[in-house]
Amino acid sequence: MSIAIVTGGSRGIGRGIVLSLARAGYDVVVNYASDAEAAKAVGAEVEALGRKALPVRADVSRAEDRARLIDAAYATFGRLDLLVSNAGVAPAVRADLLEAGEESFDRLIEINLKGPYFLIQQAANRMIAQAASDTPPKIVIVSSISAYTASVNRGDYCVAKAGLAMTTQLYAARLAEHGINVYEIRPGIIATDMTRGVTARYDKLIFTDGITPIRRWGQPDDVGRAVVAVATDLLPFSTGQVIDVDGGFHLRVL
Ligand code: NAP
Repeated sequence: MSIAIVTGGSRGIGRGIVLSLARAGYDVVVNYASDAEAAKAVGAEVEALGRKALPVRADVSRAEDRARLIDAAYATFGRLDLLVSNAGVAPAVRADLLEAGEESFDRLIEINLKGPYFLIQQAANRMIAQAASDTPPKIVIVSSISAYTASVNRGDYCVAKAGLAMTTQLYAARLAEHGINVYEIRPGIIATDMTRGVTARYDKLIFTDGITPIRRWGQPDDVGRAVVAVATDLLPFSTGQVIDVDGGFHLRVL
């Protein structure tokens, strides 16, 4: 029996990861922040695949919620084989770097960076005890091409994602001695609620301008498959590794 926690597993990329893991034989703790119906629906899809699902409401930006989330996994399943830190938000309003306010910055850092940073700390401490006597668990951080791509109308988002890239390196370096590998998955432009409002703009970038060599929108399942590669131990001698799931966006082309 293998157990995963997927933060933000109720919608979008997280939902794609949950379903891919269920197909690969994982039981999944489906974390969400507010939309209980969506989490319940994903849970039903997992059960239909013959696996167990445990929806858990927890705001990753709150310390007590993070503790409750990890506790829920161990209380129900007695173990944790994979943490996927995926939950994240876009700025409520995209604002120019010269005008953007502190409120949005604080919100993005709390949810997209501080939350994952300390959730991983908490999970890692529990995993270390488990790793000593069992197959070592793994950690996946979902960052973004925004970790290295400057979008001057959402600097807060980019700074948080760049911080996640270093978070991956830090935990990979610290946890290697315990056999716990840490991976960063960098999605490109993926079709979810987060990108729905900018569909026309991204359609033009992808299909007219060719910003991604693979000329299509990414799907949550594309990210789910990359997580399954990690989850099924296909990258045992890699840690701190960045896995680009971006249709080739990161390539420099002349
Ligand atoms: P999405 O469709 O908006 O889904 C966000 C998920 O995160 C939902 O399940 C939501 O739950 C949950 N969530 C939001 N705030 C939370 C919090 N404070 N605590 C716990 N869960 C929370 O977003 P997405 O496009 O799937 O994005 C998922 C991740 O991929 C994010 O980290 C995002 O930055 C990253 N990403 C996305 C793209 C893209 O093109 N879509 C590209 C690169 C990276 P509720 O519904 O309950 O709020």
